[in-house]
Amino acid sequence: MKPSAAYYDYSVAAPFAARILSIREAGAAMAVILDTTIFYPEGGGQGADRGTINGVPLLDVQEEGDEILHLVSAEDAARLSPGPAELLLDAPRRRDFTVHHTAQHLLSGTILRLTGKPTVSMRLGEDICTIDVDAPELTPDALIAVEEAAADVIEADVPVIIHLCPPENVRDFPLRKTPPTGEDVIRVVEIQGKDFSPCCGTHLTSTGPIGILKILEAEKYKGMTRIIFAAGRRALRDYRLLRQNGDRISRALKMPVSGIGSGVLALVDRANQLEKEVKELKEAAAHTRAEALLREAGVLAGKNEPGRVYVFLLPGVGMEETLRIGRAAQKLSPAILILGSEKEGKFAAFCSAKGTDLRPLLKGRLEAANGRGGGGPSLFQGAFDSREKLKAFLEAIPRNIDDL
Ligand SMILES: [Zn+2]
Repeated sequence: MKPSAAYYDYSVAAPFAARILSIREAGAAMAVILDTTIFYPEGGGQGADRGTINGVPLLDVQEEGDEILHLVSAEDAARLSPGPAELLLDAPRRRDFTVHHTAQHLLSGTILRLTGKPTVSMRLGEDICTIDVDAPELTPDALIAVEEAAADVIEADVPVIIHLCPPENVRDFPLRKTPPTGEDVIRVVEIQGKDFSPCCGTHLTSTGPIGILKILEAEKYKGMTRIIFAAGRRALRDYRLLRQNGDRISRALKMPVSGIGSGVLALVDRANQLEKEVKELKEAAAHTRAEALLREAGVLAGKNEPGRVYVFLLPGVGMEETLRIGRAAQKLSPAILILGSEKEGKFAAFCSAKGTDLRPLLKGRLEAANGRGGGGPSLFQGAFDSREKLKAFLEAIPRNIDDL
């Protein structure tokens, strides 16, 4: 805690008078040093404040040694000079962090009280707030019990008391975590009678304004449990979004919101089943089409001559279906089968006969015809920028392997 810092006592969006003492380079940005500040520097898991100095926006606020660096862009820094300055805090952002920081104390304290498991780290971000609890698992029932117990403390609007304590006396408090060393004064944040934690962040003066504390997710993380939570208006916004989505799904499924979880799961099962059936039908249709093509060309089992090349141009058939028909045909004949998708200007060549490599047979010819493509010994694909080029390419292919 800096003796000159005013950020603990000031959290409103009204101009605050201070003085710029100096401005100096700090990496790619410029650092403004003030005689006092209302901007909280990043620390103790809480993000830095934002706001403006004489209208210049802050990029970040960091503590370095005994100084607090107010970082601004080099371009903006040129507009500032030592002397009187008006500071303006981004109060909604501060409020959001303050609510979440107080909620975090309540959450960690409640988990410790109900499960005996300590919080080992925390992070309050603009979008996500997390705590890591030293427990391999916390059951859904335990998490609900924590939420309910926290709601009791919020409803009771329990005072939050800040104790400024000399280090030698800090052990008088039943602290939830180890106090820092090397400080002249240790700040102990107490949720009256319920939780004592050394902390340098900003906090509410009582638990009521937390409003709501909701655990959003609990996931395994490095042998511990990482809990994502939201409080206050952030929880309200989260609830609004979920409710909007829930209502849309409810209307689409024609069932109450309370039943949409099982409703969606049943729908997904049905979609998976239908997808499987469609795939089977497509395969069966491809097999029938392949049989017909081969029969028309006289390629039925046993009748094909060794080394024959059969070319089929399929009008109105996309490449995906062409490949499916080709794979089915390949199972019925060891001949070289080349199928063209006239619609897409592409072709695929198949050969299931061992010892036959399609690449030397097709690669040079494809390049000479300005096509692109490639493949392996038994499947080779190519594409042209027009269906006319594909047709010309397919027509020019010799019908016997020895002529290729
Ligand atoms: Zn705190």
